Amino acid sequence: MHSEKQKETNLFIYNFMVRDTAIFDIIEKERQRQLKGIELIASENFVSDQVMQAMGSCLTNKYAEGYIGHRHYGGCEVVDMSEGLAIERLCKLYGAEYANVQPHSGAQANGAVLLAVLNPGDKFMGLDLAHGGHLSHGSLVNTSGLIYKPVPYFLNKETGRVDYDEMEKTAKAEHPKLIIGGGSAYSREWDYARMRKIADEVGALLMIDMAHPAGLIAAGLLDNPLKYAHIVTSTTHKTLRGPRGGIILLGKDFDNPWGKVTKKGVIRKMSSILNSAVFPGMQGGPLEHVIAAKAVAFGEALQPEFKEYQTQVKKNAAVMAQAFVDKGYAVVSGGTDNHSMLIDLRPKFPELTGKMAETALVSADITTNMNMVPFDTRSAFQTSGLRFGTPAITTRGAKENLMVEIVEMIDTVLSNPESEANIKSVREKVNSIMKDYPLFAW
Ligand SMILES: *Cc1c(COP(=O)(O)O)cnc(C)c1O
Repeated sequence: MHSEKQKETNLFIYNFMVRDTAIFDIIEKERQRQLKGIELIASENFVSDQVMQAMGSCLTNKYAEGYIGHRHYGGCEVVDMSEGLAIERLCKLYGAEYANVQPHSGAQANGAVLLAVLNPGDKFMGLDLAHGGHLSHGSLVNTSGLIYKPVPYFLNKETGRVDYDEMEKTAKAEHPKLIIGGGSAYSREWDYARMRKIADEVGALLMIDMAHPAGLIAAGLLDNPLKYAHIVTSTTHKTLRGPRGGIILLGKDFDNPWGKVTKKGVIRKMSSILNSAVFPGMQGGPLEHVIAAKAVAFGEALQPEFKEYQTQVKKNAAVMAQAFVDKGYAVVSGGTDNHSMLIDLRPKFPELTGKMAETALVSADITTNMNMVPFDTRSAFQTSGLRFGTPAITTRGAKENLMVEIVEMIDTVLSNPESEANIKSVREKVNSIMKDYPLFAW
């Protein structure tokens, strides 16, 4: 028998010899960065230990091209079970009839849908990137804009909300084959019913990308787009609090023929066309370790605590937006219905760019990102806005009172962004506050 001391020494020597300290030291640095700071990037979150464990499991070793029961590799009986569980839980979570859990990311999920329903050069509509849309909704540097023909729609200048009347006019003039709803920096609820009506009027399909608010929707705190859209896509790592990844869902339309006729004269179902678009259309082998982690996250999202968490995310965002308004900041659209908000810095600090503001805040260990605001007068590399969100800080256990304090600290930094002493005093306060908050408090 070895003594405890001997065991410890052996373990130390073993770790020292086989561990890649170069990379694990870096990973530890990142963990410390996450622990000591206030994370306000609207698209980020902290996952549970179980989600992390599934991702770091032996499932990463398995090739499983294809779908459950129809794989191109042997030995897939076990991963078939975890992928099946992921699909079953996901369908239950949103009331879906079909789910594809294989997309490696949100952008891949969207790319697969475009591949499934459009031909190169076909017109489709999406929210303009500078107005809160996403790269994969028609940006000219993304495949969506390079291969197909995007026609953007915009926010209304007065209300800061999607201008559905203009959307309808554009759709009637341009006759797109697909209309995409959803965005990355849009703090308001969407009028899905109106969008479906517009899509039906021009004979287009409606796809809703719920990447940002997916968690709030799963908890029933925002309208469920599956009731209105032909196709729904999402990421799994934002408010939904799962591993990085993408998903595609179908509701009542899952069985509808698409009108695409195969060489044999068969009209294929939507579900079958989407499956082929993901694999072999966009991807090769699925990330079965990530799919298992998705299953864990969907299981967590089905628990009652998840609704409590999302309720707190929404409350925290509302309080944060109001605190910004109280301090004289311009919040685009005047507030938020979800977990995020976009601040237009120009009225309060005309000289301060989003980039300068982001840099100063990051130096104070408050992480956020610069963002274009609608009708921005600066470029995407400078911007006039900052985007904030509450999913990550709420996972750490923060409540409304901390939101007010955070806005106070942000205001202190932005009022004097070039003073090292000012930034240092806020950073010390941030680090001391966050000592009391674990990464995952639920
Ligand atoms: C984040 C996001 C995506 C893309 O997700 P990735 O996983 O980064 O590819 C797609 N659509 C919207 C609306 C998003 O906000």
